[in-house]
Amino acid sequence: MDFDDAIAVMAEHEIKHATDEPDDGFVMRQLALSLLSVSAGSQQLLYFAGSKFGKKLSFDAEDRVLVLEDVADLFDRWGYGELTVTDEEGTVIEIDESLFVDDLEPTTDKPVCFFLAGMIAGCLQSGCGEKHVVNEIACQAQDDEICRFKVREA
Ligand SMILES: [Zn+2]
Repeated sequence: MDFDDAIAVMAEHEIKHATDEPDDGFVMRQLALSLLSVSAGSQQLLYFAGSKFGKKLSFDAEDRVLVLEDVADLFDRWGYGELTVTDEEGTVIEIDESLFVDDLEPTTDKPVCFFLAGMIAGCLQSGCGEKHVVNEIACQAQDDEICRFKVREA
């Protein structure tokens, strides 16, 4: 479903469950879907905001894989999702239960984790000193089994 429909489903769901425990992911998910429904340019906006934030973080490691391990620890601590590096060069990253996907409701027809992609790129620039580009090629929001990201130097 498109972002507008996804927002409607979320809103209805949250009204029905208004007395349940607050959902930490709800605000982030709502913000991302609302921005993404406004214009395609919001993808770049969310990515840029994430990279800006990531660049402010500092890392002891300089090696890409080691920096990504530190990023995985941060993501774990902040509840951003379970980040795994799936190859030795650190060019493929998977995130399970991203903050922007949360309980997988509702599904969308496009990826939604642009903020996290940008943040990873920013962290890599901060740690390694090289500009990186991170693209989400699969997303649990669109019913893929995992959120998967390709990483390359810019
Ligand atoms: Zn995703």
